[in-house]
Amino acid sequence: MRKLLFESVLRPPVTEPAPAADSEALAELGAALERASRRRLGRSLAIREVDAGSCNGCELEIHALNNAFYDLERFGLRFVASPRHADVLLVTGPVTKNMREALERTYAATPDPKWVVAAGDCALDGGLFARSLAVEGGVAQVVPVDLHIRGCPPRPIELLRGLLALLETERGR
Ligand code: SF4
Repeated sequence: MRKLLFESVLRPPVTEPAPAADSEALAELGAALERASRRRLGRSLAIREVDAGSCNGCELEIHALNNAFYDLERFGLRFVASPRHADVLLVTGPVTKNMREALERTYAATPDPKWVVAAGDCALDGGLFARSLAVEGGVAQVVPVDLHIRGCPPRPIELLRGLLALLETERGR
């Protein structure tokens, strides 16, 4: 037992080191996002996340936006529980046959003008699940998509960059 304790003190941790915190770049990106949101909407951006059939890998990255490191709300961005309060539908996964109607109804319930952001490779064209009998295809096959954010899954910083690009584009509203 003593030997074990001694070894555990000497042995380095087996976990991988955490990625370097690029907090300056993150703060800059978040501030730009907040400014763009206020310019386009006159207020902060409200996002409704819709899982249309993902493996939940994309959700883990999206949830990270709310953790203590990214802390999305400090930039005025927030996730909302109802599409009726949303400006952006952030849709993940291939759209499964079972989720098609739910996605269509969520889209219909979101007030105009609205943006749809398809997050992840599966949301683009079905990705890994493209040939499944349970899958309709990418998000654009069901509702109009304004922006695709590639990646499997896209990292939180890429999600933020995508949202910023969306707000700065001339096309949204
Ligand atoms: S893009 Fe990758 S992480 Fe996201 S739902 Fe598809 S397989 Fe999962």
